[in-house]
Amino acid sequence: MCGIFGVFNSEHAEKYAFYGIYALQHRGQESVGIAASDFERVRCIKKPGLVLESIKGEDLQNVRGYSAIAHVRYSTAGDPGAVNAQPIVKEISLGTCAVVHNGNLVNYPQIRAELQREGVSLEYSSDTELFISLLDRGELYPKGVDLHPLDRGILPKVFYALSKVRGAYSLIYLFRESMVVARDPMGFRPLLMGRLRDTLLFASESCAFDILSAELWREVKPGEVLVVDKHGIRSYFPFTHERRAFCIFELVYFSKPESFIFGSWVYNVRKRMGELLAIEDSVEVDVVVPVPDSGLVPAIGYAQVKGLPLELGLIRNHYVGRSFIQPTQELRDIKVLMKFNPNRAVLEGKRVLVIDDSLVRGTTSKKIVSMLRRAGAREVHMRIASPPVIGPCYYGIDTPTREELIANRMDIEDIRKFIGADSLVYLSLESLRSTVESPQEYCDACFSNCYPISVEGRALRMF
Ligand code: AMP
Repeated sequence: MCGIFGVFNSEHAEKYAFYGIYALQHRGQESVGIAASDFERVRCIKKPGLVLESIKGEDLQNVRGYSAIAHVRYSTAGDPGAVNAQPIVKEISLGTCAVVHNGNLVNYPQIRAELQREGVSLEYSSDTELFISLLDRGELYPKGVDLHPLDRGILPKVFYALSKVRGAYSLIYLFRESMVVARDPMGFRPLLMGRLRDTLLFASESCAFDILSAELWREVKPGEVLVVDKHGIRSYFPFTHERRAFCIFELVYFSKPESFIFGSWVYNVRKRMGELLAIEDSVEVDVVVPVPDSGLVPAIGYAQVKGLPLELGLIRNHYVGRSFIQPTQELRDIKVLMKFNPNRAVLEGKRVLVIDDSLVRGTTSKKIVSMLRRAGAREVHMRIASPPVIGPCYYGIDTPTREELIANRMDIEDIRKFIGADSLVYLSLESLRSTVESPQEYCDACFSNCYPISVEGRALRMF
């Protein structure tokens, strides 16, 4: 869970990177970093915390450049602290190289051990470092791939590095005079290209182009490797076609609703999730209340299908981060209360249907149900716009361990009792799959327990 952004060919690439990564703040709040090249040097700044609070005008002065990459971090591998903040920058045979990565490598421990056995010193505890460290370890010339003369220096090394890693990656390398952009062959994480006059942009989600008034051009395709330099942009597909595994949780929760990813507008898919919940539901209620912000779009779909009023029965305080981030249960509990306030004006005496996007540990829903009752709701019916979360994610979403996932410990009736609702209904897996055009191209392991890539040392049920 991270956001990445890239800019090529701009007088102030570092500023574009700053605004672009700010628009992806929802993808990570732990740290932020920007690396830029003025075509002579690659320089980098990294700070803990939020983009707007952490990066100051003078920081940007120090990384002025014509090309830049940026990152917001939400750790899934490695220590969460600022030490593993990205971009990661290293000196290698090709010169200074910086990289930003969104995803998670399932064979990180093996490659790390291999590199260490070979005497390579690794400075970080994050899988992202491997993308640079592997560049100096070998070269790969995939059969049938015709390399442009300009790409014969860097690309065989990049192809070698990418051939060694397994898992999810959307990434951008920044070199002094060029940029290399890649998405893993299964396409787990989104990555898109945008244009603003002569400036080329890359982003985890299309919402990052809007802030710059840039146009969305197209998606970086699964398995595609792009080289960008002053001569233009060149596209390669070094690896044979594999099955796709777009992350369905990006559509359920993680991406912003106004973004375009995996060939769909997130808003439309999320609204459909609410519509299908409504079609499958027969409960009688007076009002539909979304859990802001993630339940809002499915709640709109639900209310429209049922012809019910949609009201803001929970008001969100925007000055707290995401409740999930807190390290202990007690702190998560308090944070839920800090985050939402019930709105008595629409709840008093009502039969309330409350909708959230997902139920993971159950912390949020339990607090919300009791909050709604205290504010006068006569009945509280909980609806979840996705199926029960039963599988941890190994490909870049920060889900808890299998044991912490409430749906692995209780059946739906017990979860209903635990959260204290009058009824509890989840969207079925079948309905969730029907919200996307080609469900077989998605990874829904968190809901189905069917994993597209095996993980060393774990017994997983595979497709
Ligand atoms: P829980 O209290 O664990 O059931 O949390 C569920 C809530 O957290 C839902 O309202 C989601 O919007 C949100 N959520 C779900 N998955 C994640 C995640 N991986 N990281 C942060 N928030 C999440």
